Amino acid sequence: WVAASLTKQHHPSSRFSGDSAAPWTPHFDVVVIGGGHAGTEAAAAAARCGSRTLLLTHRVDTIGQMSCNPSFGGIGKGHLMREVDALDGLCSRICDQSGVHYKVLNRRKGPAVWGLRAQIDRKLYKQNMQKEILNTPLLTVQEGAVEDLILTEPEPEHTGKYRVSGVVLVDGSTVYAESVVLTTGTFLRGMIVIGLEMHPAGRLGDQPSIGLAQTLEKLGFVVGRLKTGTPPRIAKESINFSILNKQTPDNPSIPFSFINETVWIKPEDQLPCHLTHTNPQVDEIVLENLHLNCHVKETAKGPRYCPSIESKVLRFPNRLHQVWLEPEGMDSDLIYPQGLSVTLPAELQEKMITCIRGLEKAKMIQPGYGVQYDYLDPRQITPSLETHLVQRLFFAGQINGTTGYEEAAAQGVIAGINASLRVRHKPPFVISRTEGYIGVLIDDLTTLGTNEPYRMFTSRAEFRLSLRPDNADSRLTFRGYKEAGCVSQQRYERATWMKSSLEEGISVLKSIEFPSSKWKNLIPEASISIGKSLPLRALDVLKYEEVDIELLAKAVPEPLRKYTKCRELAERLKIEATYESVLFHQQQEIKEVQRDEALQLPKDLDYLTLRDVSLSHEVREKLHFSRPQTIGAASRIPGVTPAAIINLLRFVKTTQ
Ligand code: FAD
Repeated sequence: WVAASLTKQHHPSSRFSGDSAAPWTPHFDVVVIGGGHAGTEAAAAAARCGSRTLLLTHRVDTIGQMSCNPSFGGIGKGHLMREVDALDGLCSRICDQSGVHYKVLNRRKGPAVWGLRAQIDRKLYKQNMQKEILNTPLLTVQEGAVEDLILTEPEPEHTGKYRVSGVVLVDGSTVYAESVVLTTGTFLRGMIVIGLEMHPAGRLGDQPSIGLAQTLEKLGFVVGRLKTGTPPRIAKESINFSILNKQTPDNPSIPFSFINETVWIKPEDQLPCHLTHTNPQVDEIVLENLHLNCHVKETAKGPRYCPSIESKVLRFPNRLHQVWLEPEGMDSDLIYPQGLSVTLPAELQEKMITCIRGLEKAKMIQPGYGVQYDYLDPRQITPSLETHLVQRLFFAGQINGTTGYEEAAAQGVIAGINASLRVRHKPPFVISRTEGYIGVLIDDLTTLGTNEPYRMFTSRAEFRLSLRPDNADSRLTFRGYKEAGCVSQQRYERATWMKSSLEEGISVLKSIEFPSSKWKNLIPEASISIGKSLPLRALDVLKYEEVDIELLAKAVPEPLRKYTKCRELAERLKIEATYESVLFHQQQEIKEVQRDEALQLPKDLDYLTLRDVSLSHEVREKLHFSRPQTIGAASRIPGVTPAAIINLLRFVKTTQ
């Protein structure tokens, strides 16, 4: 395999220029392996950056397949989608064309942690994604299973033991490439499990990837094992929805993409979700049949935040667990019971389902199942997602130990951009933790690694008041346009217009100033406290919960009326006003940490007894245990808060 490839020293150009008797071997700038959520984004991003790209995947008709939940987004995940969109990625736009129920989660909390989410029509998503991928300029799509990598001598100016220069397919044919992106999801030595039965598969109905897994292991990559699972699917007409709590979608629907003002479907035409709960009978069936359930016994770790019903019953006995009944699509007869991921034998799954309220007569159409698969320790990749071991080889998606479509898409777009930049000898495109959730995700993976499926949460981001879903375009679109070339002119112009409109709007709102008593008269709806009738700027008035731009523009039509014309602009001005003062302080702190990320921490610092710096006992213990060398390394230790980092930074600077 590798040795053979190395000794052959395939060089693409010799194949093209030379010997007419030699069979023609295709040669691309970037080859992406896998047409899942990471692979589609990677391939499209590389092509947008101007690279001639090939997407090689098992089956074209599974491109865009949602292997598990029929939904996208949520808390933290919605943020990732906005960032993917800001870089002109696909999934947000496709979700705006394919959703059946759009709802923003966490509405009662501040807009920094709102979670854009939608139930998605599986069939439509797949159709729309395939249409997009098959019509992307510079992108070729080919069916095939990749078995091996072609390796050549490494470039001396870069680290790495080998350099990838192409791939070998299962039929022995080869494709040469300047960069290769691997996005094989749950397919590396994938095994699916129901009850005591196990058989090799990447997901139900798909062959696993064995050859490639062996190649990676032989090359010296550290491989681990993880598991996940999916619930059974239930016939819609067999459910008694009338006795269950109904959840209706938002009105209006908030699109995922910055370039869309609306989604494809009106709120009144969208489908509802319903809520039911497990009960002690469910616990009983799970506990009595543990001996028939080999997935539960496997030592591989499963997703902590999307656990199977078996793990929930074992970890939290005697509790009722939520089961959301989610539509699978506009004309689908199936319902996805979210929260009921299970690997019991099929007949016991059906028995379990029918003891749940509303599901007494439910018909199970497809049983739930588990999947166990290899992943590669993500500490083996750089922040640009290139591997340390093999130059020009990039990993993205579930192969890096993550779970979820959004985490996969986010890595895909970064890997695609960097695979393309590498070909053009351009510097890597890296997003820092202070710039985006994508930065948080990749930094967590590459510095800390993971031993359980990693998913994104807002709590993982230190600077979440700045990394909001509403401002992902201001954070990333300009960089994507200028440094990577992955952003279209149309999107760049829209982001530029939005940025200047916001700046202008904020400065106008700052310039309008009246005594608070006058504001009270102008906007009686607002609970403005008059006190000593101090001067208040319109921007300060906009911070009141009950005030929006519309109300403000009624009070001061000129010059504010024009800011009511665009819904997104009006909402963003309100959000900017809400966070103005906290953000100012946070921006200063971000700059301070960014400036001093490389600042060395004294080797002999005794964190446990340190008196002159305010640190919690927990933070002291973590620093004591990890002994970070720099402020940057300290800020990446889970549980060491941004406030602690600022205190530590200031302390170290004063003592140096
Ligand atoms: P995938 O979407 O899996 O795509 C991999 C692609 O690579 C496929 O198109 C495959 O055909 C192709 N491929 C693989 N090997 C080769 C090869 N050698 N040559 C060519 N092509 C190849 N996520 C959650 O967030 N929560 C869950 O509860 C959850 N449960 C899941 C349950 C199951 C049973 C499965 C299968 C997945 C589950 N997921 C869940 C994970 C979610 O589906 C993934 O996180 C997401 O799809 C990962 O995207 P990806 O692009 O990395 O891989």
